[in-house]
Amino acid sequence: MDKSALRATLERQSVILRSIGDAVIATDSGGDVELMNPVAEALTGWKEEDARGRPLAEVFRIVNEETRAELESPVARVLREGVVVRLANHTLLLSRDGREIPITDSGAPIRDESGAITGVVLVFRDQTAEREAQARLLESGEMFRATFEQAAVGMILLSLDGGFLRANRFFMGMTGYSAHELYSMNIMDMIPPEDRAMGMDCMRQLKDGKALTCGTEKRLVRRDGSLIWVEMAASLVEEMEGVPGYFVVSAKDITGRKEAERQLRMLSVAVEQAGESIVVTDRAGNIQYVNKAFERTTGYTRQEAIGQNPRILKSGKHDEGFYRRLWKTISSGRTWQGRFVNRRKDGTLYTEDVVISPVFDESGSIVNYVAGKYDVTEHVKVEAQFQQAQKMESVGRLAGGVAHDFNNMLGVIMGYAELALSRIGQDSPVRGHLEKILSAAERSTGIIQQLLAFAKRQPAAPVVLDINKTAEGMLKMLKRLIGEDIALEWLPGPDLWKVKIDPAQVDQILVNLCVNARDAIADVGKITIETANVHLDEAYCADHPGLVPGDYAMLAVSDTGCGMDKETLEKAFEPFFTTKEVGKGTGLGLATVYGIVKQNSGFINIYSEPGQGTTIKIYLPRVGGEAAEIKEAPKAVPGGRGETVLVVEDEEAILDLAATMLERLGYRVLRARTAEKAIEIAGLHREIRLLLTDVVMPGMNGRDLAGRLSAISPGLKVLYMSGYTANVIAHHGVLDEGVKFLQKPFTLSDIALKVREAIDA
Ligand code: ADP
Ligand code: MG
Repeated sequence: MDKSALRATLERQSVILRSIGDAVIATDSGGDVELMNPVAEALTGWKEEDARGRPLAEVFRIVNEETRAELESPVARVLREGVVVRLANHTLLLSRDGREIPITDSGAPIRDESGAITGVVLVFRDQTAEREAQARLLESGEMFRATFEQAAVGMILLSLDGGFLRANRFFMGMTGYSAHELYSMNIMDMIPPEDRAMGMDCMRQLKDGKALTCGTEKRLVRRDGSLIWVEMAASLVEEMEGVPGYFVVSAKDITGRKEAERQLRMLSVAVEQAGESIVVTDRAGNIQYVNKAFERTTGYTRQEAIGQNPRILKSGKHDEGFYRRLWKTISSGRTWQGRFVNRRKDGTLYTEDVVISPVFDESGSIVNYVAGKYDVTEHVKVEAQFQQAQKMESVGRLAGGVAHDFNNMLGVIMGYAELALSRIGQDSPVRGHLEKILSAAERSTGIIQQLLAFAKRQPAAPVVLDINKTAEGMLKMLKRLIGEDIALEWLPGPDLWKVKIDPAQVDQILVNLCVNARDAIADVGKITIETANVHLDEAYCADHPGLVPGDYAMLAVSDTGCGMDKETLEKAFEPFFTTKEVGKGTGLGLATVYGIVKQNSGFINIYSEPGQGTTIKIYLPRVGGEAAEIKEAPKAVPGGRGETVLVVEDEEAILDLAATMLERLGYRVLRARTAEKAIEIAGLHREIRLLLTDVVMPGMNGRDLAGRLSAISPGLKVLYMSGYTANVIAHHGVLDEGVKFLQKPFTLSDIALKVREAIDA
């Protein structure tokens, strides 16, 4: 090779060297800088001419990135060991102008033809960009790991068949499993068997690409066997760069929420099914919710009620002030309590006890009102009935007391009028007067009898009877009573159950009811009397306060008359209540019927509407036994045949009257004003055939007296007169069946018949 060719080659090599993109520094065999290319100049901050001849360590200063310890330049090792040396990672080049540049480099020996080392060539590269990218990468990986680890939600990675690949702390805390345990488990091991199908389905959809995510609410079995509710959301991470696909699943513990939901559901069922009506309104009072009881009570369906104002229930029974006070109370945040009379959809009224409370939000302002309403219509009715019964009771006591005394006096008036009549001649001028006295007194007796019946003080002699027979015997008389313009229909029920009642009382009931029915019919119409067997069951009685379950013979009298309005209905049973003009009504008819029915443990019901006629139903309790024969009383007035009668009566006027009448009839009479006196007399007079005694007297009563005297003289007959005294009647109410009884006041023929019958029995 000639000189010029050599120079050209060297020239060429130098150009190549300087064009290399990496930094290149060459040293001599002593390690001093011989050559630098421009990249090396740029990185180290040294100019070639400055650096030439200096030791490499001066131009190429390197430190460890982390420790900042100065590193030996690889050149020394290359010279020493004659091998290619690479720099460790994390090396920083400290440039002459103070920069720190991350680099990688390598050093290699330069050998001559003989193989002797004549220097070192150092090649290095600026790594700033790579390092930064790597740092970024590193940093982000770290971040993701930390995120996964520390997320406040359970995070798991599952293999495509459900095996656990990874689980974060939160998930482990939630389930109670350690990482170690989880990595040998499948997610299905944690799902209760009945929920597994859903889980499998979810995984399949993700795998088949049918869904991008899949979320479910699922129960998981914790390590200790307890169950938690978890909201899971899963997605598929597809296979990439040889890494198989897997599922990323987040799992949030919603047990608390589920429990709250359960409680809410429970509460809402309770509210929905409650026996009380519940209404929720917004602040303006518009209905937002009503429960079933509301629908039942008001007749409005939920659809009809929602959006309405509760004033659809207004009955008009309360004034504006009432509602204003209510609103004032609740809108000021307080609870209102009270009683409403409201109107149902069908127009009928009902009464309810109501509590209305405001509902507040977190900030304390009112958002809703809730009303709990309890229908007390029935309760109010029962209360009213109870009060009514009490009123009747006290009125009865009063009326009974007056009637009792008055009745005795009437007896005396009538008795002496009769006696006087029997003593004067047919054409005596006072005969007409006496007859007037007698007939007026007799009419008064009718009124008094009614009052006593109402007061339940009418002594009765109940027998077991068939009401059908008793009523049939009355039909002729009733037809006469109601006249020709009114038809009377008789509908006896078959095989009517027997009841125990004084037949005279059945007559009284029928007469009173038919007279009322007749009065209610303006001109033509119809009265129906019917009977039937009725069984009142528990359910029916629960709906009809005052009724007692059991078997009853029912007697009903219906008419096509004017009917009654509400006010009349409420008062109809009260004595002296009448809507009839003065002289026409006494107001005692229904009171009498009421008293009789009560005395016989029965019930009475009125069904009546203005213009719709009236039905009055009487229920008498069924008894066993055979019906008694009702004997027709003989017509003639039988006299005495000198038999001795002991008359015992504490009321002197009556004692005298009875004795005088009996003597006139041809009896021998012994008188006693007390039971003691009677016993004394009886001891002296064995010839006594009959004891006629008052039922109640001071000291010993009539029954006990009869018992004592029967012991003294067996075969003694007994006839009672009623004393009308409250005590005995109240305590016993009635006389025993079969006992002979003379009702005060009595006429001559009454006493004649009863005494004769008693002695002959
Ligand atoms: P009185 O018949 O003397 O008025 P009651 O006690 O028998 O007394 O009846 C009281 C009131 O009840 C009557 O005045 C009448 O207004 C009403 N009433 C009773 N029965 C009927 C009926 N069948 N139809 C319509 N109103 C009746
Ligand atoms: Mg009447």
